[in-house]
Amino acid sequence: MAGHILIVEDEQKIAALLQAYLEKAGYSASVLNRGDQVLAWIKQSPPDLMLLDIMLPGMDGIDVCREARKFSMVPIIMITAKVEEVDRLIGLEIGADDYICKPFSPREVVARVKAVLRRRRPEPADRKLTAGPLVLDESTYQVEVMGNELDLTPSEFRLLQVFMSQPGRVFSRDELLVRAQGYDCEGYDRTIDSHIKNLRKKIALHLPDREVINTVYGVGYKLSYL
Ligand code: CA
Repeated sequence: MAGHILIVEDEQKIAALLQAYLEKAGYSASVLNRGDQVLAWIKQSPPDLMLLDIMLPGMDGIDVCREARKFSMVPIIMITAKVEEVDRLIGLEIGADDYICKPFSPREVVARVKAVLRRRRPEPADRKLTAGPLVLDESTYQVEVMGNELDLTPSEFRLLQVFMSQPGRVFSRDELLVRAQGYDCEGYDRTIDSHIKNLRKKIALHLPDREVINTVYGVGYKLSYL
């Protein structure tokens, strides 16, 4: 799990969309619709990051942020519809780490969340898997091929993680399904085939002359690098 995100947003459609995108990116996410519930919530179960809308019932996002800073250093990204607010949000006055203006794309939000978390969290040194030109970082959910970062879905990431944990070992489709899909289960054997196909394509962008994931006919797949 890449981290737990608390979404504070009273527009339920926006909150649900953000939650869906964050979960797709490997985070877990909770939603609160009121500002006056936030402080008690983060005292009880501190999230790894908070997305905080400004216009909220109960207590506005600016007061929430200011009050939260009295006891918590949780990274906070403010969501605002007012561009003129932006200068006040960042830095000492309110204490937010970053801001996003409405309307936003959920992809952009996920990218900001990743960036803020990366900035805040020191990288543990021992969570990298290496196989030939592939480097997979389990703490940041990043994969590099000869220094080029791959843009993987959570399922593709987990698949590669399984392969790289035991390079050369053959994994059956059933095993990959259980180990790579996790709770995020979305289908059958052929889902694995299509994830593998996409994963190969993304790796081949940077390694066009080599097949990194081999098909073992009648059995499954393996990583060819030892
Ligand atoms: Ca609002």
